[in-house]
Amino acid sequence: MKEWIAQEIAAAIAEAQAREGSVTRWRPPLVAYASADDPLFPQLKQIVRASHTTPKELLPGARSVIAYFLPFERDVPRSNRPNRLASEPWAVAYVETNALVGAVNQRLAEGLRARGFDAAVQPATANFDAEMLMSDWSHKHVAYIAGLGQFGLHQMLITAAGSAGRLGTLVTSAPLEATPRSSQPACLYTYDRSCTDCVDNCPVHALTLDGFDRHACYELCLENAALHQQHSLAEVCGKCVSVVPCTYVDPVARKVARGAS
Ligand code: SF4
Ligand code: SF4
Repeated sequence: MKEWIAQEIAAAIAEAQAREGSVTRWRPPLVAYASADDPLFPQLKQIVRASHTTPKELLPGARSVIAYFLPFERDVPRSNRPNRLASEPWAVAYVETNALVGAVNQRLAEGLRARGFDAAVQPATANFDAEMLMSDWSHKHVAYIAGLGQFGLHQMLITAAGSAGRLGTLVTSAPLEATPRSSQPACLYTYDRSCTDCVDNCPVHALTLDGFDRHACYELCLENAALHQQHSLAEVCGKCVSVVPCTYVDPVARKVARGAS
């Protein structure tokens, strides 16, 4: 089953890249799995918000959660590194990858149903409370539970392929063995205080060593959406993940491996 899932994600990426007018390119995807019964899921009602949904609330009979990461090719974060506002390739990558998440979810859901299982999907974005700026299904937290990565100082997930990309998740009644979560941090600030690049990169100081002002961040995202209004709903910024140590890799894993070699 896991091999088929990986093939479906790869096929959706290939199809997206072959589509006329498609600009974004992606590095190889990552996939991880959680048990729908993982005790961390109910805790998201305290950690994220009281109305955060559990897999079983989304899909009665849920047994597993599939989480995947679609990392952008290196030219996308590179283009976004300079200037205060987001680059056009970054805005386009956001929009095209959200569409790709929809296509991956559709493929997986249809395939799972054809195999006799149920599936429930959530969109890549726009499923959040506009006042609280919080979601009832946080892909980041769900992907963390699935062992896809660890949170960084920038509040994003750092996967083995870094943090510049988009996450997708899907709940299913199919039984899939859970991926173990790493106990090692992936953020250099958490690991040994050797990096604060994401904080230094934030143009509006929404990100500090003391926390994250999501409203200040969202205001800049709206400014970028206006700038890139020809690309629908490009509420983006991404300066905190654009060419920092965790853009393309897990920098702690790399540091540990280099130290050990
Ligand atoms: S840029 Fe540095 S401090 Fe920020 S999340 Fe990445 S590794 Fe951590
Ligand atoms: S997305 Fe932009 S505004 Fe928001 S925290 Fe990152 S750098 Fe700051």
